Amino acid sequence: MKVHEYQAKALLAHFGVAVPRGEVTDSPSEAREIAKRLGGRAVVKAQIHAGGRGKGGGVKLAKDPEEAHDLARRMLGMTLVTPQTGPAGRVVHKVLVEEALDIARELYLGMTLDRGRGLPVMMASLSGGMEIEEVAAKDPAAIVREAIDPASGMFPFQARKLAFALELQGESFKKGVAFMQGLFRCYVETDASLAEINPLLVTKQGDVLALDAKMNFDDNALFRHPDIREMRDLAEEDPLEVEASRFGLNYIKLDGNVGCMVNGAGLAMGTMDLVKLAGGEPANFLDVGGGANEEQVKNAFRIILSDKNVRAVLINIFGGIMRCDIIAKGVVAAVREMGLSIPVVVRLEGTNVDEGKAILRESGLKITPADGLEDAAKKAVEAVR
Ligand code: ADP
Ligand code: MG
Repeated sequence: MKVHEYQAKALLAHFGVAVPRGEVTDSPSEAREIAKRLGGRAVVKAQIHAGGRGKGGGVKLAKDPEEAHDLARRMLGMTLVTPQTGPAGRVVHKVLVEEALDIARELYLGMTLDRGRGLPVMMASLSGGMEIEEVAAKDPAAIVREAIDPASGMFPFQARKLAFALELQGESFKKGVAFMQGLFRCYVETDASLAEINPLLVTKQGDVLALDAKMNFDDNALFRHPDIREMRDLAEEDPLEVEASRFGLNYIKLDGNVGCMVNGAGLAMGTMDLVKLAGGEPANFLDVGGGANEEQVKNAFRIILSDKNVRAVLINIFGGIMRCDIIAKGVVAAVREMGLSIPVVVRLEGTNVDEGKAILRESGLKITPADGLEDAAKKAVEAVR
């Protein structure tokens, strides 16, 4: 799960990480009041779940409270397009009004899980403000990495090593070390999967603060963090994905037109690959899971059909724990409710396959049966054409 910058900063502050003073609002007049409280000069920052806001006009300096009001009025409700939102952009519902700081240096500090080492790593780079993926591709040596064992915590020498790499000195060095230790604790104790501070700011006065903050959390650990789960912003998510999550389905909307109904994440990935290989584009990733019931299958199929881009559906089920007859019943129930005006290609194998095929055959639905994976993908792509 993703959260907004203002929410990530509140979590970081809770762990003693230095962040700029600021408040979030959805009202221009309140933005004026916040700027007054901050001493007049302020930065108005659009809160959307995507970076690159500065380049898209979503981060603006206000020299006085009146300008903060005007900037907030312009930003709220606007569709912000950044290099990370895609061409459709995101509507801005909230702005963070923050003290404007005097920038001496902009650095990069991030944390994520290194799956290769099986440990969280903290990464530091002098190239703050830039996309770290770009730095990693062009000049990997410019990123210093430190793997940290959660059992022992972050040792001071590890933080010092990164602080040296960031060329911090004197008081800034000490502040940087404290910052990193707070960041590490925040990352581990909130079950985060990503914490990215880009830029990490060194002010002209020598303070070290998180000027930007991006945090993602492990969905499977959210039950331990009701406060973080509360931060979920459904307006930032695709409506069909929100709908799917209500039924416990793993559904991710994509840009293509072949709707895919599959059980098991691996088979779903493989199915998407085969659709691509056959020259088509999948409309979604969908794993109905091993233990789905008829109701879940019905909802899954309904969600696929309600995506207006979908021009054909490919049902690819390998019934292990999942039973083919349950899939068939769910599909028939969904079609009864919504009707069906597009071709459906079905490949069923495994537990209760004959029962499943019989249910589909007797339903009177226009279904194209397929033999094997490749055949199914080819037929679905042909059906779209
Ligand atoms: P994004 O990464 O989405 O573009 P950032 O929060 O990183 O947004 O802001 C972009 C740039 O705006 C920063 O690199 C920094 O130069 C400037 N900036 C952001 N917040 C402040 C602030 N509080 N004071 C001064 N400058 C800021
Ligand atoms: Mg940034």
